[in-house]
Amino acid sequence: MSHVMNTYARLPVAFSHGKGSRVTDTEGREYLDALSGIAVNTLGHAHPRLVAAIAEQAGRLIHTSNLYGAVGQERLADRLCALSGMQEVFFGNSGAEANEAAIKLARFYGHKKGIELPTVIVMEKSFHGRTMATLSATGNYKVQVGFEPLVAGFVRVPYGDLDAIRAVAEQNPNIVAVMLEVIQGEGGIHLREPAYYQGVRQLCDAHDWLMICDEVQCGMGRTGKWFGYQQVGVQPDIATLAKGLGSGVPIGACMAGGRAAGLFGPGNHGSTFGGNPLVCAAALTTLDCIEEEGLLANAENIGKLIRQRLAAGLADAQGVVDIRGHGLMIGIELDRPCGVLVTQGLAAGLLINVTGDTVVRLLPPLNFSERDASELVDRMIPLIKAFLAG
Ligand SMILES: *Cc1c(COP(=O)(O)O)cnc(C)c1O
Repeated sequence: MSHVMNTYARLPVAFSHGKGSRVTDTEGREYLDALSGIAVNTLGHAHPRLVAAIAEQAGRLIHTSNLYGAVGQERLADRLCALSGMQEVFFGNSGAEANEAAIKLARFYGHKKGIELPTVIVMEKSFHGRTMATLSATGNYKVQVGFEPLVAGFVRVPYGDLDAIRAVAEQNPNIVAVMLEVIQGEGGIHLREPAYYQGVRQLCDAHDWLMICDEVQCGMGRTGKWFGYQQVGVQPDIATLAKGLGSGVPIGACMAGGRAAGLFGPGNHGSTFGGNPLVCAAALTTLDCIEEEGLLANAENIGKLIRQRLAAGLADAQGVVDIRGHGLMIGIELDRPCGVLVTQGLAAGLLINVTGDTVVRLLPPLNFSERDASELVDRMIPLIKAFLAG
């Protein structure tokens, strides 16, 4: 009997090693990885430059403490701010922690304005994490049930509905921020027209609210731009990162600019491990590789290719509702629950995922090649067709 707490429905496979977009299981079978450990392995597996940078840093210093100067954090924050248009960064260890920092910043901002019960507008079908505040912000009852009382200070509206936000603004004087994912990941790869996000930005400006973008899944080049909000032409006050930031080492970041910059001082927030030299070295190398290997353009081009070839190959299949996404964040929505495709994919040598019950989700590494893409599409099409026919 396992002594690991039973919190995951694990697939009956375990991996031994990987190289690029391929991983090998403990029985020696190879798989094409179109999931990247859920948008984490930005550079695929065992990228030589990342491996060398981590080894080099581990041989020098893994951890010191935020009691002391942090050269790696300074360098990484400089790079992230230059890319994101933000002004300062707090480093934690995960997406949930990045979002906790964002929620704390929003509350702090409210209290500074004299709002005693600061409230954040959040979205249906959103996912922000599993800590008490972030699960309370999450728009999925399954994540919350059994953990009540939830953290107060959130109001939920339908995703994509500006009028719903306007209605809340009229009734509730305590609103301090709107928090959303530009592409909802766990909710089923939902995205809207740029005008929606621009409308949220305008409402935030009109009401002196913070706009918070949870970029934990859609950030770090995944959509073909550094951040999802750049895809839709808005600049939020706060953006959070984690998943792809360190290509597999645990690092999260809460970036603040505009009205959200300069709020926190010493003692307002902290983390023991946050931004230690090891994870900062991995994140800096990830940024270098994305830039020097042209991975933004690759994500955009290969993503387009995958969506086009899937659309062509599935054109005559009954039951495909939509194929959508930006770059290498792709959803194939079917007209019925399709969780079984994950195990069928595994049998076909593919690592894929299903989210929101009916949406096949693809999140390949950003250095996925044209050959990888062809192989993925050639194996996915018969899989989906057989499922829909069955
Ligand atoms: C995965 C995810 C999180 C939570 O990240 P953890 O590192 O698991 O805490 C938060 N927001 C979004 C959009 C995510 O996809």
